[in-house]
Amino acid sequence: MNRWTELTTFQPNPGDPHQPNSTPIYQTATFAQDSTTALGRYDYSRSGNPTRDVLQAQIAKLEGVDHAFAFASGMAALTATTRLLSSGDHVIAGLDLYGGTHRLLSQLLSRQGIEISYVDTSCTASVAEAITEKTRLVLVETPTNPLQHIADIRALANIAHEAKAWLAVDNTLLSPWLQQPAKHGADIIIHSATKHLGGHSDVTAGAIATNDDELAKKFAFIQNAEGNALAPFDSWLLLRGLQTLPLRLERQQATATRLAAYLDEHRLVERVHYPGLTSHPGHELHFSQASGAGTVISFSTGDVSRSERILEKLDIFTIAVSFGSLHSLASLPCRMSHASIPDQHRHVQDDLIRLSIGIEDADDLIQALETALHRGTLARSA
Ligand code: PLP
Repeated sequence: MNRWTELTTFQPNPGDPHQPNSTPIYQTATFAQDSTTALGRYDYSRSGNPTRDVLQAQIAKLEGVDHAFAFASGMAALTATTRLLSSGDHVIAGLDLYGGTHRLLSQLLSRQGIEISYVDTSCTASVAEAITEKTRLVLVETPTNPLQHIADIRALANIAHEAKAWLAVDNTLLSPWLQQPAKHGADIIIHSATKHLGGHSDVTAGAIATNDDELAKKFAFIQNAEGNALAPFDSWLLLRGLQTLPLRLERQQATATRLAAYLDEHRLVERVHYPGLTSHPGHELHFSQASGAGTVISFSTGDVSRSERILEKLDIFTIAVSFGSLHSLASLPCRMSHASIPDQHRHVQDDLIRLSIGIEDADDLIQALETALHRGTLARSA
């Protein structure tokens, strides 16, 4: 079966006698038992809920793995991953991870006696050098958000496994439609499902996927013990979003590819970061492990105030954090999504603009950028 068909069709109503074509929202905290000792499939929604189960099965299918777990946010999924660790363990994490991930590691995890080394994960040798006998987890984004550095998933999986550590890949930027890290050896795949998986900026959610049965048991336990599983209604919203994932991604990516080429040629743009450009240093590696370059572009203008003015003059795009929505968004990561990283640890340049490309018409988006680039530059000389 064609992958598109396979991934967009699913059994919406397992076990439901009425066979609804849309998954019912089992908005219930508890489930009746036949007796005090006879437990049915479900007893309490924190531990298991039919709407969430349909969603989790669908996320697992998308990632090409056996197990998935839906959480209240991407940060909750990342927190659940860190629950695999104990005091004395060592973690290798990417240098330019999402600001919230950096905050979790540097301000919470480090207080629990867990040591973290921040390494340029696009340099496999640097990761190998940073490994110690205490390393239990290597946590990377590829591409990174927003600098789009590419890590070699296969090589990092080998390095991690030799050290008896897990490789976790935050796959938020691409979504499983474009990259399935488990196929290349990653043990844990993490998502901020708030982004592409949801796709409509209307739900905050996270996910973990894994092919490892032992890890799956641990995550099921953590999800229940911590009580941060995704609620039934949010599970339903996410499930609805997932059904159009390939449709949205293909359209958004085609437009992003055009926009990246346009920006790359523009005299008012200093540098464009997009793995779809053949000039991107990780281009070949990226396409050896992913089928597309995604929907997020970042570029620098050489001057932070010019970048600010460009964003203020930009039509169609909404100034907002996040990415992966149907609607185009623009942001200045150093002031927004990455502001929580202290200056000395932040690797994102101040003037870097991040664009998340939506489903609007490509020509209209190019026109909006053209106008903003000129107006933002002219305003300075006025
Ligand atoms: N991972 C990445 C790459 C992100 O960009 C984000 C949020 O922007 C997160 C994780 C955290 O996800 P959430 O905001 O859903 O908690």
